[in-house]
Amino acid sequence: MKKLYSYNFISRIIFLLLTPVFFQYFGLGFIWHSIYWGVITAVVLIWGAFIIFSPLVGRIGCGWFCFMGTVSDLSSQHSIFKIKWRKPKIWIRMILLIPFFASAIIFYFINKERGITHDFAFLSSFLKLDFSLHYQYVWIIDVTSALLFGLLLERRWACKNICIMGTLCSAGANYSRLIPVVDINKCTLCGKCEKDCLVRIPIIDYINNNNGLITNSECILCGKCVELCKFDAIKIKFIWNRNKYKQLITETISLI
Ligand code: SF4
Ligand code: SF4
Ligand code: SF4
Repeated sequence: MKKLYSYNFISRIIFLLLTPVFFQYFGLGFIWHSIYWGVITAVVLIWGAFIIFSPLVGRIGCGWFCFMGTVSDLSSQHSIFKIKWRKPKIWIRMILLIPFFASAIIFYFINKERGITHDFAFLSSFLKLDFSLHYQYVWIIDVTSALLFGLLLERRWACKNICIMGTLCSAGANYSRLIPVVDINKCTLCGKCEKDCLVRIPIIDYINNNNGLITNSECILCGKCVELCKFDAIKIKFIWNRNKYKQLITETISLI
């Protein structure tokens, strides 16, 4: 689908503009509040689904819906510091992930001890949708921090290093069946896709060393590389068995 990135961009802009309406459904911080109150809310279900399905469809949530990722992409075009691809450091991610969940769980048990909360319950609309002054402040803080991170460090640095949802989704996306695939017979190694990738994925490495399978857990499936390639060499598709695919490509090359 050649126009994939155009659809992706429209989706992300729509979700960005609608964020004040759906804020409590997509704001990552509300996951903490949900645990704190012992309630499984819509935001937990939505992001829970993105995490659970990440081994199947990768970082769809990050690439198609998250308003902070979109703000980061928009501001990233004017970043002060350009970065090279570097694999995210798992220990940095853990330093943020563990206190996030640990503190929420501790507060949940303290609240339970005091009789304020009870066992975990499904109450998807527990967090009200009214965009009160308090939520407006939280939204402004979220958008401003994504904007500043994007202006400072390009290509979703914050997504790759400090976002807790990024950490959890990337763990599953390591095994994603839906991935960008380069047809190495069509590719001229021009490098255009890698140069403009929203996340700075080292695509050429994957073309040279992984039979064209871009199995990078940071890929957000935005489709920009698909749209940019003049040779129609990249497609995002389901690869159910990576080893079998690679074997097939190796055999095809050896026959040429
Ligand atoms: S890594 Fe976090 S901030 Fe970035 S797009 Fe994903 S959920 Fe949003
Ligand atoms: S833009 Fe197309 S031809 Fe150029 S390196 Fe990427 S996949 Fe290959
Ligand atoms: S590899 Fe392609 S689909 Fe993945 S993030 Fe980069 S441009 Fe988007």
